[in-house]
Amino acid sequence: MTLVRLVYVSRMTEACDTQALKAILDTSRANNREKEITGVLCYDPAFFMQCLEGPRELVNALYASILRDARHKDVTLLEYSDITERSFGKWSMAFLPATHVEASVITKYAPNGKLNPYALNGHQARGFLLDMVEGRKDLE
Ligand code: FAD
Repeated sequence: MTLVRLVYVSRMTEACDTQALKAILDTSRANNREKEITGVLCYDPAFFMQCLEGPRELVNALYASILRDARHKDVTLLEYSDITERSFGKWSMAFLPATHVEASVITKYAPNGKLNPYALNGHQARGFLLDMVEGRKDLE
């Protein structure tokens, strides 16, 4: 079985309110668990950044469905690669509000303090998500 990692960034639309966000998380956790897909969803009022890891066909099919989802737009692929082990294997979909991020993590990826996730390359995007989960024991 080929395992892949996919990281993308997007902007939420007006259709994405707090209730919609909760529905996305609930659906994601239930579906992903069934498909052995793991990952993280970083949420900032200005953007989503998500990493999906799992069997290639299932990750590809999920990404196709995510691309069609009206709750976000401007979906841009940052990384797609074959992997031998998962970086976010502990979570069916960990939720990371960007407001909880240490300022030092933001300045590492945005020297001016204003993170533009669309300007990150795949390596930086994964590094950003890894830095966000580091040491967090409270993630579902
Ligand atoms: P359904 O049972 O069809 O829907 C579940 C709930 O979501 C329902 O309340 C339904 O009304 C609502 N909903 C479904 N699709 C839409 C839509 N296009 N617009 C508005 N409301 C809708 N899905 C995953 O399975 N795993 C993920 O990791 C994942 N990550 C996502 C990340 C983001 C940023 C977004 C926007 C969506 C994500 N989704 C994810 C949702 C995905 O796009 C599909 O909606 C979902 O996979 C459909 O699964 P389902 O058929 O089981 O859900």
